[in-house]
Amino acid sequence: MNIETVGVVGLGNMGLGMAATLARKGFKVIGYDINDARRAAIEAAGISFVPDLTDVLRRADALVFSLPLARDVEAVVTAEGGLLSRTDRKVVVVDTSTSDPGTTRRLAARLEQAGHALLDAPVSGGPSGAAEGTLTMMVGGSEADYALAEPVLSAMSARAPHVGPSGAGNIVKLVNNLLVAAHLVTTGEAMRLSEAAGLSAEEAIKVVNTATGRSAISEVMFPRWILSNSFDSGFAAGLMRKDVRLAMELAAESGADLPLSAHVAQIWATTREAIPDAADFTRMADYRTTNGAK
Ligand code: NAD
Repeated sequence: MNIETVGVVGLGNMGLGMAATLARKGFKVIGYDINDARRAAIEAAGISFVPDLTDVLRRADALVFSLPLARDVEAVVTAEGGLLSRTDRKVVVVDTSTSDPGTTRRLAARLEQAGHALLDAPVSGGPSGAAEGTLTMMVGGSEADYALAEPVLSAMSARAPHVGPSGAGNIVKLVNNLLVAAHLVTTGEAMRLSEAAGLSAEEAIKVVNTATGRSAISEVMFPRWILSNSFDSGFAAGLMRKDVRLAMELAAESGADLPLSAHVAQIWATTREAIPDAADFTRMADYRTTNGAK
């Protein structure tokens, strides 16, 4: 079925850029955010803001969600008068939120019963990737639903591998972000060692980036957001804490024993005072470099 109108629900750091990308690529985009204070920014980006969620859920040919938590996704999927009672066409939901596989599978089954579809399609690439349409998406769901959503997926991403059945996209996203959470801690501590031993983090990171200890954290995040002291990646520490918590819950459900990751999770959970949820998540590396052990 043809997709002309895309409804984007959740127009924050990621969703607004996705909506602008979809509009630029020729879709008619309508948007909704629960926070009315977002309206000015949304309209300034040329996106038509619809103040009633039900309106967006009933008018869109396809939907993109970019919401903080699994419970927000559930609230939108089950909104009264919305998708579950809509019968005029099959609507595919591309849920780009970082969510948990169990909730995703449950909501995908409910939407399927109502004649619709939900793909878990969490993303990597940050607000700049969303605004440029160069995200990496990791997609879970059926082949047929993937094919249905393909024009929307390809408009928003540089790559969007179909990873497996419903929930598979969430699994790989949590695996990825558990690594990011750990790398921020370990790279920060390695820079602490370098400074303590008399070599600046700036000098050390340049060499690490040509050697085997490098990662996206050392190659991208240190120069761009940490050593520059800008801390404006657009990803909040509170959202990273959610991802770490979801990864550890998945480990517990799956019977995977992850002792080092459990310690990393504890570090993220117990540093809320020094790195508040609203702070940029890259603060963690700086904290581990400068005073994390105090
Ligand atoms: P954000 O907080 O900037 O934006 C979320 C938006 O959703 C807010 O504007 C909020 O008002 C809105 N919202 C909350 N509940 C709602 C509801 N029930 N209905 C409608 N709108 C609602 O968060 P973000 O950084 O854009 O992240 C969105 C999702 O993408 C999260 O799941 C996050 O983990 C994930 N993510 C973020 C990044 C990043 O770099 N920021 C990268 C990859 C994945």
